[in-house]
Formats: sequence, structure tokens, C-alpha cells
Amino acid sequence: MCGIVGIVDAGDVSIPIYYVLYALQHRGQESAGITTFDGKKLFKYKDKGLVAEVFNEDILQELKGFAGIGHVRYPTTGEKIAENIQPFSFSFRGRNYAIAHNGNLTNGYTLRDEFEKRGQIFSTTTDTEIIGNIIADELRKSNSMEDAVLACMKKLEGSYSVVFLSEDKVYAFRDPLGIRPLCIGKTKSGHMVCSESVAVDALNGKFIRDVRPGELICISRDGLESVQITESSGRGHCVFEYIYFARADSVIDGRLVYDVRRKIGQALHLEAPVEADLVSPVPDSGIAHATGYSESSGIPYREGLIKNRYMGRTFIMPTQEDRENAVRIKLNPVKGHLKDKSVVIVDDSIVRGTTSRRIINIIRETGAKEIHMRVGSPPLKAPCYLGVDMPTREELIASDKSNEEVKESINATSLHHVSVESLINAIDMPAEDLCLGCLTGVYPLWIKGEKACPRYLDFVGGTYQSNIKEFNED
Ligand code: AMP
Repeated sequence: MCGIVGIVDAGDVSIPIYYVLYALQHRGQESAGITTFDGKKLFKYKDKGLVAEVFNEDILQELKGFAGIGHVRYPTTGEKIAENIQPFSFSFRGRNYAIAHNGNLTNGYTLRDEFEKRGQIFSTTTDTEIIGNIIADELRKSNSMEDAVLACMKKLEGSYSVVFLSEDKVYAFRDPLGIRPLCIGKTKSGHMVCSESVAVDALNGKFIRDVRPGELICISRDGLESVQITESSGRGHCVFEYIYFARADSVIDGRLVYDVRRKIGQALHLEAPVEADLVSPVPDSGIAHATGYSESSGIPYREGLIKNRYMGRTFIMPTQEDRENAVRIKLNPVKGHLKDKSVVIVDDSIVRGTTSRRIINIIRETGAKEIHMRVGSPPLKAPCYLGVDMPTREELIASDKSNEEVKESINATSLHHVSVESLINAIDMPAEDLCLGCLTGVYPLWIKGEKACPRYLDFVGGTYQSNIKEFNED
């Protein structure tokens, strides 16, 4: 879970990249970084914290150049140390490069070991540096970026959407299954690639299309070029992007995330109708799902909980009681909406169950009569190895508990998770194009100790198509 961007434009790109990272802040709050190139050298700045905390006008003025990449990080691999903050930059044979990555490699340790045996040293503990090493290794042999990305796609296992700054060009590629999102946009005088379409909107740009799974895109001042490196027998788009992770106003692989969530909400009503006085979301993650439940059922949508918008990251409170109180600062119940009422409360997912338990507690204390919990994801049964921060089976409340047991544990009057079938219908893609690993325990690629229904890859290679018409159509 990270957000990435790459832009080549007529003028300086640091401020546009800053705004894009702002739009992608939900994809990672731990650190942020920008690297730019001005025709002669790289400029870089990165630090721990939110985008607004890391950058200011003076810093952005110093980041000169018409080409650049940026990153917001939510750690899935690698420790929380300063060296792991992206983008990473390096120079190789007199040229300057920088790389940023969203995803998680399932063979990262094996690859690192392979490189270390050859005497390669690493300065970080992340997967991203491994990708940088493979690219540098290939560039040494053939000096061709297509060959370098082909080598990556042959070696890397897992999920990876990557932006790579090679002096005045930005390259971007997406793993052959398209697990994490990546899309292309046109700005007023240049082009961009970014994790979600909301980032194109942030620059008032024009969304062109998603990067295809297995595709390499090159952005330069001359425009866009594309080459299909790998064809796959199926895809593995992450369902959790639609359920929770992406912003509701993003369009991912042709689907408006808000619409998918609304359809999930409608399915929740059809699968588990109940008589109630109001449908209330858990803000903000359950809002779109709750509108769907309300539309389908005719039960009024009314917020029963209000979120404090100005809440930054909460301190880790020393005692359980302090932690419980911190939830109340974040979420306050609207007592007048809830007292003596039957409430359908809708959230996107239950992971450990802690949030739902606390929320139901808060609502019960207002004097609500019944609390019917409806959940926008099927029960989470297995961990994610492909880039979403999801705990082990032991910590996932639904991995070994029945619906009735989870209901008891969170103290709800009734509980229903949307079915896998309805989720697939809401996303409106064939099941073989989705990664359902966290729901079914069957993954779209081999993962040690897990079941898989792997897709087969054909490394087609090929040469660049300057697909001017497709990229420049208005
Ligand atoms: P839990 O208390 O562990 O059951 O957390 C469930 C809540 O966390 C849900 O309301 C989700 O909105 C949110 N959530 C789900 N997945 C994640 C994730 N990978 N990282 C952070 N929050 C999440």
C-alpha cells in the first residue's frame, strides 16, 4: 500500500507532484518523497510524515526540473527506517536514476540473497532496491529499458507498479497480473502516471487509461510510448482496492470505485434485509456502501457517527482505557439519531474486529435498540502477501470464527458480510481477473505454503509503439 507518481512536463514538476501526493495520501501516511531531474542533475527530498508535514514552499522550489517521480509510503516490507523512504536514487555509469514502487514481492528475500551472493550490497531493506538492482544489471548488459523490464517481469514474483526516473524520461510498468493500480493522464503540457485517477483530477488533467498489466510506458517531452512486455492468461486485480483502499472517486481498471461500493451495499441489503429506522455508515470507509444499502432498502441514510476531520495520527495511548477514549475523540455518536432506534451500521471490512466492537459499544451507549452490522467485504480468511497490510490468520477474526461467533464477539444484534459472488458482480469482472486471496486463501500466483490458481505468462517483448492517436485523442 503506497502511492506513486511520475510526471514529465514543460515546466517544473515538483509542485504538481506535491499535489498528486496530497491526492494519494490515503495510500500511505508514513513518509513522502520527491525526486526531480532538471537536465543536468537530480534533486531529491524525502522524510517521515504526511505530505503537508514533509514539504513546504522553500523545499519545493529547490526541487528543480521538468521530470520527476514521487511516493507516499505505507510500509508492507522493510523496517520503518529513514533509508527505506522512497524514491531511491542511484547513479550508474554516469547516469542518474530514481525508482519508486507500490506492491510487495513474494520472492524478495530469494532475489536479495541471489544478488548478495554475487557481492551486491544493499542500503535499504525494501523490495524496491531489488527492482532497481535488476534494472541496473540489465542496463549494464544491453542498455535497453525494454530488456530491463522484461528481466524484471521474468524474475519478480508478486505485485509491483513501478515508476522509474531515467534522467529526462519517466518509465512506468505494472506487473503482469495488474495487481496494484496504475494509470496514465495528460496534463496541460505533459504526461503523468499515477496510482489512482484522482491524482490526474488533482492536476485538472485528462485521464487517458490504465497502464495495462505487463505493459511498459515511457514518458518524455516528446510524448508517450508503450510496449507490451508480458501477456498473461488472466489478471489479478486486488479486490481490496475496490472494497477499502482506493479513494471512492477513483476509476480503477474502468470501474468507478464509488459505484462498486454502492453495488456492494445494494447486495448487502438483498442478501440480508432487516427492518430498521436508519442506515448509518462508519465514516469514511463505509459511506459509499451504506448509500447502496439505503437505496436498495428504502431505509433512510442518516449519519449516526461523526468523524473529527482534524484528527491527525493518534498517539499510542498507554492504557486500554485511554485508547477507548481516543476512539471517542475520533468518532462521536449523534445521540439524537440513535437513541431507541434500530440501526443498520455499514463498514467496509472487519479485520481484527477491534474497530467494530468499539463502534458498536459507542452506539449501544446512546440507547440504540438494535444494531445490525453489514460489512462490504466477505469474511477475511487469509493474509495478503501482495501489498495490503493485513495481519496473520491468527489475528484475522473471521479466519477461524463462524458468523455467529464474530457477531457475539463484536456484540452486534445481527451481522452479515457480502458474499464473494456479489462482490465479484459488483466489481463486474470475471473471477479469474481478480485476486481473491484474502477471501478464499487461493492466490493468483504461487506463494509458499498457500494454495494458488496461477495465471500463465507469455513474455512477448516487442518494440515501442508510439501510439500517438490513442494517447493524444481528446
Ligand atoms: P479492525 O479493527 O482490525 O477490525 O479494523 C477494521 C477497520 O480498519 C475497517 O473499518 C477498515 O476501514 C479499516 N481497514 C481495513 N483494512 C485495513 C488496512 N489494511 N489498513 C488499515 N486499515 C484497514
